[in-house]
Amino acid sequence: MDIIHITRPVRDEAGGGKGKYMDRIYLDHAATTRLSGKVLEGMIPYFTDCYGNPSSIHATGRDARKAVEQARRKVLAALHAGSTQEIYFTSGGTESDNWAIRGVAEAYRDKGKHIITSRIEHHAVLHTCQWLEKQGWEVTYLPVDAFGRVSPDDVRNAIRKDTVLVSIMMANNEIGTLEPIEEIAEIAHEHGALMHTDAVQAAGAVPIFVETSGADLLSLSAHKFEGPKGMGALYVRKGTRLARLLHGGEQERHMRAGTENVPGMVGLGLALEEATEHLEERRSHVLALRERLYHGICEQLDGVLLNGPLEDRLPGNLNLSFLGIEGESLLLLLDLEGIAASSGSACTAGSLDPSHVLMAIGRSREEAQASLRMTIGHENTEEEIDEVIRLLPGIVRNLRSMRG
Ligand SMILES: *Cc1c(COP(=O)(O)O)cnc(C)c1O
Repeated sequence: MDIIHITRPVRDEAGGGKGKYMDRIYLDHAATTRLSGKVLEGMIPYFTDCYGNPSSIHATGRDARKAVEQARRKVLAALHAGSTQEIYFTSGGTESDNWAIRGVAEAYRDKGKHIITSRIEHHAVLHTCQWLEKQGWEVTYLPVDAFGRVSPDDVRNAIRKDTVLVSIMMANNEIGTLEPIEEIAEIAHEHGALMHTDAVQAAGAVPIFVETSGADLLSLSAHKFEGPKGMGALYVRKGTRLARLLHGGEQERHMRAGTENVPGMVGLGLALEEATEHLEERRSHVLALRERLYHGICEQLDGVLLNGPLEDRLPGNLNLSFLGIEGESLLLLLDLEGIAASSGSACTAGSLDPSHVLMAIGRSREEAQASLRMTIGHENTEEEIDEVIRLLPGIVRNLRSMRG
């Protein structure tokens, strides 16, 4: 039997801070988050006593069905959506993005074969669009400005009679830019196109009013807001046509067959409810920590570039380029100190290609490769941030001096 050895001994309860994983400082909340204790507690009965199949007629099945529908209502409430029929559960953000884009492309193929998206989308969107191009669709990849913003005017100029879908993310996962979704959706609708938004990073971090956002489709992922991994949701506005994703049983109103992941659905619902309930207090805490971290670092170091905007940015996101060094080396040395951050997105970490997002905002290859993303969560503390401020500048100076 394989045994996975954890690389550091688990600290005793008294020694570990609330935001600590063992004795590490976790600043990679855009990659994933720790499952909330309350959420875990709420999920457990659906692994144990309440194991019924929601499709079964008997009481055990009905209990599971009730839990699924209650979770759906929690998503509805958090998004301020109109009806539970607009909420589908999926296996995560990637599936939601794939389904939204492929599902609309297929359902509206008679209208046209043109899609508009941006150059800074998550790969779940970009690679789906590239796949559609191979199937005969045309895709426009809009540029962004120096802060990562998509210009509504660019959408207006790119949109055509045969445009079926505009897919622009609500918040960028690498540099935290919040996109002008409402304005873009309005333009899409004026021209008879649908609007999809990847709200995976936005959910739980900024308020979402899906009705007024103009989005016809919206993707969520539970593990980005302290829910379970492998669990997501797709909002589909009433009246929007969407091709079925999986064929088989009648689950998710015939749209996504397969026995439901009941504990996962319960977990997503609870996590989104909890994140929404505490959104404002957590947002101001996280924002204050980010300001402290940013200023603490800039006071001690020259040659630091902020990637992304100062305003209209996810509260927990800080993405910096430290000129003259490799972000990857900095990441590894921080890891040795027990500090978890990221260079570029987690999906591209380990590859030497500079981030497509940083290249799109006009950074040079060197500047892009000098980047470090630190994403703060509500469990992080001032003491942890101060520890990073104490350690990081010295590591950067050492790396710079080694380069001569
Ligand atoms: C993490 C992420 C995804 C993918 O979600 P998974 O649930 O991990 O598949 C998609 N889009 C964005 C913006 C993300 O940050």
